[in-house]
Amino acid sequence: DSKLYGYFTTFLSWADEVRRLGVRANADTPTDARVARLFGAEGIGLCRTEHMFFEGDRIDAVREMIVADTPEDRRRALAKIEPLQQGDFEGIFEVMDGLPVTIRTLDPPLHEFLPHGDREIEELAHKMGIDVATLKAKIEGLREANPMLGFRGCRLGIEYPEITEMQARAIFHAAANCQARGIKVHPEIMIPLVGDVSELRMQGDIVRRVADEVMAETGQKIDYLLGTMIEVPRAALTADKIATIAEFFSFGTNDLTQMTFGMSRDDAGRFLPLYVERKLLKDDPFEVLDQEGVGQLVRMGVERGRSTRPDLKTGICGEHGGEPESVKFCHRVGLNYVSCSPYRVVIARLAAAQAVLEEQK
Ligand code: PEP
Ligand code: MG
Repeated sequence: DSKLYGYFTTFLSWADEVRRLGVRANADTPTDARVARLFGAEGIGLCRTEHMFFEGDRIDAVREMIVADTPEDRRRALAKIEPLQQGDFEGIFEVMDGLPVTIRTLDPPLHEFLPHGDREIEELAHKMGIDVATLKAKIEGLREANPMLGFRGCRLGIEYPEITEMQARAIFHAAANCQARGIKVHPEIMIPLVGDVSELRMQGDIVRRVADEVMAETGQKIDYLLGTMIEVPRAALTADKIATIAEFFSFGTNDLTQMTFGMSRDDAGRFLPLYVERKLLKDDPFEVLDQEGVGQLVRMGVERGRSTRPDLKTGICGEHGGEPESVKFCHRVGLNYVSCSPYRVVIARLAAAQAVLEEQK
């Protein structure tokens, strides 16, 4: 009842007075964003854009884009998605009025986009007006032995810069439209799976150029940040160089854990229990940020990044961001915020306050 809710919000307001760590949420839709705000999220720390490409007919346009031969053909295919993508972002900016929204450029393993089976390939060939055998050969050429370590993250935007261009245009047009309506927007554009500064520079140049174009066209000046995920061990190791370009880092501990341990995040459930049972591991590293392993890379990333850019904003958006012991670790290494599932925001607010109290013991 409302009395109980009153106690609950008062209690949480005490936690908020104590904590120094910001708490954001991972949300990809206006509905999730609304839930996140209700639970007290101070922004969106990760808006994944992958699922947006599967909605309705969009997947057909994506497939056309992938098998297109020229940048012009790719742009034509992507133009079908752009207005819808702009709508996706407008919806989220509206809900998050006044708060930062970190939007990540596309990061699926490419194989998820490929048509499966002969029927889907035939249908696509028919829609595109091309020969089935030609399309089949193209798709076969894109198959990978290990997609999770293959064509993902910024590699997609490097091979198909038109995707990054389209997403940046959709983000900035959405931001300009919202701003013109009095909504306060703070977009933060985040490039996934960067391992080296050169990748971020290449993608960042596209984002900055598009931002300038849209701002000139609309007359709206948008305050935005450009940053990157730190989720490949190489990124933590070279964080000083990456911070010459990145204005913020967000640690993607799902991938960082999988790559540091050399354990598949999707299949670890098969052998991890045995490791824990035989005391080869203390905890499930995907649930508790391991301070001797992944945690050290996080610490290194923060230190090296800030050695180049003292005001570098840092956060975490992997699943660890909603796990109390990991939240406390994030506080100790000096992150600015954690970002977690909307339903974990309250837990993260409390854990962030506990981290401060434990420090004073
Ligand atoms: C991560 O790797 O921690 C992350 C947040 O990205 P995703 O889970 O989408 O790979
Ligand atoms: Mg990741």
